[in-house]
Amino acid sequence: MNKTYDFAVVGAGSFGAWTAYFLRRAGASVVLLDAYGPANSRASSGGETRIIRMGYGPDELYTRWAMRSLPHWRALGERTGREFFHQTGMLWLSNDADAYLKSLYEVLGRAGVRQERLTSAELQWRWPQLQLPDVTWGVFEPESGLLMARSSVQALVAELAREGVECRTAAALPPNTHGKLAQINLSTGDSITAGTFIFACGPWLPKVFPQLLRDRIFPTRQEVFFLGPPAGSDAFQPPRMPAWLHRTHPDIPYSLPDVEGRGFKIAFDLHGPEFDPDTGSRVMDPGSLHRLRAYLERHVPSLAEAPVIETRVCQYENTWNGDFLIDRHPERENVWIAGGGSGHGFKHGPALGEYLSARILRGAPAEPRFSLAGKQTEQQRSIY
Ligand SMILES: Cc1cc2nc3c(=O)[nH]c(=O)nc-3n(C[C@H](O)[C@H](O)[C@H](O)COP(=O)(O)OP(=O)(O)OC[C@H]3O[C@@H](n4cnc5c(N)ncnc54)[C@H](O)[C@@H]3O)c2cc1C
Repeated sequence: MNKTYDFAVVGAGSFGAWTAYFLRRAGASVVLLDAYGPANSRASSGGETRIIRMGYGPDELYTRWAMRSLPHWRALGERTGREFFHQTGMLWLSNDADAYLKSLYEVLGRAGVRQERLTSAELQWRWPQLQLPDVTWGVFEPESGLLMARSSVQALVAELAREGVECRTAAALPPNTHGKLAQINLSTGDSITAGTFIFACGPWLPKVFPQLLRDRIFPTRQEVFFLGPPAGSDAFQPPRMPAWLHRTHPDIPYSLPDVEGRGFKIAFDLHGPEFDPDTGSRVMDPGSLHRLRAYLERHVPSLAEAPVIETRVCQYENTWNGDFLIDRHPERENVWIAGGGSGHGFKHGPALGEYLSARILRGAPAEPRFSLAGKQTEQQRSIY
């Protein structure tokens, strides 16, 4: 006879793995499934690195969540004897008309986050690698940086397995009955029985719950480049190069410094076309390289001709405005959904896991911004 778990968590990305962590820490029995394995190369959490920054413009909620999450990422590194957080700093680049950056500066001040306000002359002096004629001021968060994405989630899942969570490579079939869910069926023909089910399936959520989420989560194709800096140069490594985001440029370029020898990572934060996370092609569109070269020539000239040493195609799983979706299924009292990371979710895995486990275990108050009911079907991104 099948064992009955307290919780079955479907999806071992940042959201599912941290949710399993907090449930297990509360003493629950947990099974954690992933169709392709934790932080696999199709998953949104499967990239090399992700920025962890505290600045969210006026959205203090996410500033607070990032502040809550960072110590958990650090502690995971300490427990596993690895460095998953690189304190590279995070640099915001913009102009005087940018209300977002003004709000960010105020919110960080209120929240007690260390920050420096920099003029264009100071920016040019500190980071001569960047040419920013359109930037009039910036905000630097010296205590932010980047997370090693895939390796940290995989280490977390390995730790969960040691702590008694059953971690399995298995694909859950979309639940097709109504009312309380007793079990989920797997593609192998097996099933898993649990008291409560949590679907943290990232960009796959519209496939798992097509009727509910087809029009509420929009996976988009996102391309990432890693460039090879010149031999013998540390100009694009920390501490000389932070993570940065160039807000005044229409393509919203952002970059992460060269850590662990992978190269200087650069991408555009604009939403790409619709994307299928199972079958979508992960080969770079040749036109994208031209766009990147044009950007580099103007703004990072010493890398204008730098070789591309790696490319990645990933996907965002966007909600209409970028707010996460963390809610109970409207027709199934023992089914929860956690997703809609919308291109900024990775860092928040710990805060999300803490929030969701408290909602489920203790009936903690719900944040209206995460509700399913508030999710509209037109894309109008406002959270960055
Ligand atoms: C290019 C790019 C850059 C980004 N940059 C940042 C950044 O700098 N900072 C930041 O914080 N965030 C960033 N993000 C966003 C962040 O990576 C995502 O929001 C986050 O990783 C989402 O995690 P998740 O656990 O919800 O989804 P995922 O990591 O996709 O995990 C979902 C998992 O569910 C599994 N699954 C799906 N269906 C099933 C099923 N039926 N049965 C079993 N398993 C299933 C999948 O295999 C997958 O592993 C970026 C994303 C991209 C693509």
